[in-house]
Amino acid sequence: MPKIYFIDVTNRDGVQTAKLGLSKLEKTLINIYLNEMGVFQSEFGFPTTRHESLYLQANLELAGMGVLQPIRLEGWIRAIARDVETAFKLVPNIRHLNLSISTSEQMISGKFRGNKTEDDIINDMVEAVDAAQAISAETIGVNAEDASRTDPNFLIKFGLAAKEHGADRLRYCDTLGYDNPFTIYETVRGLAENVGMPIELHCHGDLGMAVANSIAGAKGAIDGGQDAYINTTINGIGERAGNADLVAVILAATKSKGFAKKYHLGGAIKLTKAAKIAEFASYAFGIPIPINQPGVGANAFAHESGIHADGVLKDPENYELYNFKELGRGKPKFVETGREIIAGEYSGISGFSHIMGKMDVLFANEKEAREVLELVRYANVESQRPLVEDELLFIAKYPKIAKKLLTLAPLE
Ligand SMILES: [Zn+2]
Repeated sequence: MPKIYFIDVTNRDGVQTAKLGLSKLEKTLINIYLNEMGVFQSEFGFPTTRHESLYLQANLELAGMGVLQPIRLEGWIRAIARDVETAFKLVPNIRHLNLSISTSEQMISGKFRGNKTEDDIINDMVEAVDAAQAISAETIGVNAEDASRTDPNFLIKFGLAAKEHGADRLRYCDTLGYDNPFTIYETVRGLAENVGMPIELHCHGDLGMAVANSIAGAKGAIDGGQDAYINTTINGIGERAGNADLVAVILAATKSKGFAKKYHLGGAIKLTKAAKIAEFASYAFGIPIPINQPGVGANAFAHESGIHADGVLKDPENYELYNFKELGRGKPKFVETGREIIAGEYSGISGFSHIMGKMDVLFANEKEAREVLELVRYANVESQRPLVEDELLFIAKYPKIAKKLLTLAPLE
């Protein structure tokens, strides 16, 4: 029986969102948390974008060191051979790519203004797949942008061409959140049956159905005989109304009525990491978690009204579908209410040593401490918010990698 896998795209769709962004260190921490959670793949950035190069290389080094294992790190680029060549030039060790091109009549005429036909779209895509294989890609996903507004017959033709040229997966992008669970099920099932390759579901929330569509699409892929790879973002942050929320999709796939009996996850997910990853993303993006967010919102396990409070005290299952402990909640949070020493871009060695000492980090000598402090200062220049404990610990543990992440050299 085919299975469900998760590809998180926070570090691509999330960071390209208007008004939002992450520092390279924050992106790295997100990859680490996704790996700890058991997420199959992180779409970790843009290999043709120059300011990403050192971040991407540093994260691939972390993979080589076993820190980012077994998660797969994959880059997103346009499906044109020129971009494939640039990607491998800037990030030579990249091995997993998703190649994206618009497939709908709307986008072909609206974006390319009559300069491209459907055949040109397929030609560009297969040239890119060929180039990626010729260089050194291990896996290739091919993305049909605006797939939900694309003629299903053309999508099948597009998928078959990708498969013939050796692509591994077809990404069905509901770019505008236009599908509903009924339409996406039918279309994706047809694609799975007729193309015969694993399908990625990339759903947006413009009509409030990103999570429901992801689950329905996954069912369509599996009923059609293929593995399903659901694209998610942490806290659902993504273009416009956002993407399918990572935690909500996991909850829907494992807790919704009867679904998990027939449709299984491809690998174990540690849901106990949910609260931590959601809180970190909220802090790093500077966007509060909505109070009613599934699983991780402040009200997800809060009860006030008489009938509900009485019921949940008698038996939590009266008013709760799952337990807060499953999401890693329930531990008291430590909030300093007295004197605080913060590490920042203008910190000195005394305050910094105090902070690291509280976390039991001891340096071999003052030179080493000063070097780590210097990196912490730069990290704060980039993030402009106090670094969290895990960021400070990361820098102290991997100073060389941190230096790479923090190095930006424009117009070189
Ligand atoms: Zn998207």
